[in-house]
Amino acid sequence: MWKRAAALGFCASIALNTVPVLAQPDWRIVPAMLAAWYIADFASGLIHMYMDYRPCAEGSRLDELFFYEGHRGSPAYKALHREIMSKLNLFEQLVFDFKAHHPRPLTLGRRDLLAQVWATVAVLTLPVSLLLNLAWLTLPVPPWFMAGAVTALIAGTLSQYFHGTLHRRANPWIIPVMRRLHLLITVEAHDLHHATLDRDFATISGWSNPVLNRVFNWLKARGSFNPAGLEPARDKTATTAG
Ligand SMILES: [Zn+2]
Ligand SMILES: [Zn+2]
Repeated sequence: MWKRAAALGFCASIALNTVPVLAQPDWRIVPAMLAAWYIADFASGLIHMYMDYRPCAEGSRLDELFFYEGHRGSPAYKALHREIMSKLNLFEQLVFDFKAHHPRPLTLGRRDLLAQVWATVAVLTLPVSLLLNLAWLTLPVPPWFMAGAVTALIAGTLSQYFHGTLHRRANPWIIPVMRRLHLLITVEAHDLHHATLDRDFATISGWSNPVLNRVFNWLKARGSFNPAGLEPARDKTATTAG
């Protein structure tokens, strides 16, 4: 219920933020929106990169879910999933989601829109959008800035939804149109990430991937990303016992 309320609050806040843009059209609005689309793509890649390689919390038992060998639709798996996730904070749950997405990408494609966006809305884009409401109501914020900020907030909110469309056959008509306009990354380009896990982390347009790949290689060369973090560490005591 509160997830839906947060999403509705975000829509209302964004609608309010578009008022100054519609009231004062300006040639700088379009370049600002394109720049914002790039910035949101870059941010999606940076966050993805960090979450992929950040090790899961020790003792979280997430290895039991990640390497589960039975049927994932079974009551036993669902009960285990509930039990383990109930002990983790939201951040640790999201870290696991990023890693689990690599071997089972279709799971992300099957989730509904609210399930894909609520965490981003609650933690990031709703608070920022509300601050933006406050800013333009109290300060002389230019319309082009508002247009860019609104674009970045919408793109950021929908980044996991856009990612999910890459792992699902049936999508709303707007998605293939945006892909043809190069506003969304293609399935083939995103597959490069799944094949390597060390490149092409951006999941919106992919425009920022050439720069992000350089950032990743630079950080990796300095020891920032250990491939061991890509999966939850197996619990040694469980292995020994088994
Ligand atoms: Zn990844
Ligand atoms: Zn993916």
